[in-house]
Amino acid sequence: MMSKAYLSLGTNMGDRLGYLNKAISLLKMQGSIQIKKMSSIYETDPVGFEDQSPFLNMVIEIETAESPFRLLEIILQIEEKLGRIRLFKWGPRTIDLDILLYNQDNIETEQLIVPHPRMHERAFVLIPLLEINDKLMHPALGKEFKQILSEIPKEKGVRRWKQIDGEDEFAHLES
Ligand code: ADP
Ligand code: MG
Repeated sequence: MMSKAYLSLGTNMGDRLGYLNKAISLLKMQGSIQIKKMSSIYETDPVGFEDQSPFLNMVIEIETAESPFRLLEIILQIEEKLGRIRLFKWGPRTIDLDILLYNQDNIETEQLIVPHPRMHERAFVLIPLLEINDKLMHPALGKEFKQILSEIPKEKGVRRWKQIDGEDEFAHLES
């Protein structure tokens, strides 16, 4: 049976666009995952630890026959493949992949919490999510994400990202 899930991608090191592209092509190489929709890429000022470079963030909609737990394994493997500076054994991660939603399931285990526990406070997640599906509900809060976004400090620090040459950002995402 096919399930619908939403994943977020974030990166703030090195060739950020390259990491997004690589993560997406590694997801596509999984025969069991089909990418249905991709948001624009947004550039986001760091929150929390502000002394670091801005992030690129995006959200994708996938269809998959994998369980949420298997999906988590797959994204952690991709993070591992892309995520560590080769020079150091435990260098910083270059890409963060999170499961935002899996159908309308509520999952709460030690390794996996879905909906992602912080998604409802993050404009940089909600803006790209709503771009690809503005009808979605938060399955635990029982509220539309549209409503949730309208109640948090919003667009501040989240901007649609374009290459310096001014071309549309979609042109830079391999499809
Ligand atoms: P964060 O994404 O909060 O910045 P990490 O990526 O370092 O932090 O956290 C990774 C761990 O979070 C994973 O090993 C995974 O077990 C756990 N986790 C719990 N829920 C989720 C989720 N919905 N998506 C991704 N990882 C999750
Ligand atoms: Mg993560």
